[in-house]
This record gives sequence, C-alpha cells and structure tokens, in this order.
Amino acid sequence: MTNESSLRLVWVYPDLLSTYGDRGNVLVVQRRAEQRGLRVERYDVRSDQAVPTAGDIYLIGGGEDRPQRLAGERLRQDPGLGRAVENGAIVFGVCAGYQIMGREFVDDLGQRTPGLGLLDVWSTRGESARSVGDITADVDPRLGLPPLSGFENHQGVTHLGAGASPLARVTVGKGNGTGDGTEGAWNDTVFGTYLHGPVMARNPAVADMLIKLALDVNALPPADDTWYNALREERFAAARANAASQSA
Ligand code: GLN
Repeated sequence: MTNESSLRLVWVYPDLLSTYGDRGNVLVVQRRAEQRGLRVERYDVRSDQAVPTAGDIYLIGGGEDRPQRLAGERLRQDPGLGRAVENGAIVFGVCAGYQIMGREFVDDLGQRTPGLGLLDVWSTRGESARSVGDITADVDPRLGLPPLSGFENHQGVTHLGAGASPLARVTVGKGNGTGDGTEGAWNDTVFGTYLHGPVMARNPAVADMLIKLALDVNALPPADDTWYNALREERFAAARANAASQSA
C-alpha cells in the first residue's frame, strides 16, 4: 500500500503508551527505513486524536495499568486502527499495547475489559509475582528472524486462541506467562510481544521485517548493525548470566 519512496509510520498514543523506552521502536524503524533511502512520514497520534487509517506501520508501546485502560477505552471508540488492519497495515504492539490488541485484558480496577480483537489472544492477571527481567526467545521459524532479546515487566498473562501463533519460544524469562514457554503472538500483519528494550533496538531484524512487509519485498539493502550487535551480545550474555545465577 505504500509507494516506492515513502513509508507512513504511525506511533499510537505516545502520551499513554511508551514505557521502558518504547519510543525507541519508532526511532529505529524510522532510521532503518531512511537508511534504505525511504522517505518516512511519521505520525505521532496522541490519545485525543483520531488514528489515521492510511498508515503502513503502526507501533504501540507498553503502559502502566491505568494508562492502559484509558488507551483501551479510546482505541475501542476509534475505528481507525481496525480499518487500517483491514487495509493491510502492519501493527506491532508491546506489552500493554499487545494486551489491548487482544480480545480482552484485566484493567487496573480488576475488571475484564474488551480489547480491540485484532489478535486472537486474551490476557489475565498472573497470580504470582510480576514477570520482570531480561528475556530471550527463539522466533517462529516462518518469520526467519534471529533470536529475540528484550526486557519484560508485566503482571499480565496472555493466552493464545487458535487464530494466533506464538511469536517466539522463551529461552530465558517468562513471555506470555502461561507456562507453555510461548512469547508474544502474531497473525498475518499483526504482532504482539512482551519485549521492551526497546525491542527494535535490540532486534533490528524485527524493524526490517516490518519494513519489508510494508514494502512487500523479500530483502532490503544491508544497514550497519555494529551497535545493534554490540547491544545484543551484551544483553544475551546478561540474560544467560541471570538465568545461571537463578538456577544455581
Ligand atoms: N500493565 C500491563 C501489565 O502489567 C502491561 C505492562 C507494560 O506494558 N509494561 O501486564
């Protein structure tokens, strides 16, 4: 849906959903698109504005429980994101953003609250301690991505219905938290994950995947991954060390 030279990148609700540096996701996708010669039109859509329907890539970040409820209420009243997905847009949501995209989540008042139904998942509140810490995971092989590195901090536990596939299998950390070792979910052009980091800075291949999907191409010209790789090496080592110290 994009023309060859420009990419419409929409950041949904930076005023409510942007914890743990999730803004970095927008910066990394924008930068990696521009490095490939694309002109990026970026729309930062605050929660009192309508979500445009003609974007190519939509990014939604994480949030604390109350902003998550407010964001969910507003997005349910705004048909923009749903229409965009019907038009083939790509959506990538993190943590609270992931939960809101599902069928249902539990809000800060303890109420089961409808989500947007863009992903066949639903979230409950975990009984045990919050899932906090470095996480690593192996991605669904159909997506052809290297292992994921991220940081998670959530109370929610996310269950997948038949219409969604796990984004990845956890190697260190909790992920969806259902005990089945899955992390995140995806279906067609809609992706959800518990990974902050920001996830695109730790996993530039994910940013590239979104750009490739938007352009409908199989490959992009190479970009310099030196700093990304240094960060990945550091965080994978830290996750391994944490896991080893916990099992010792
Ligand atoms: N409020 C949600 C939870 O705790 C999401 C947290 C987040 O986005 N970091 O599960």
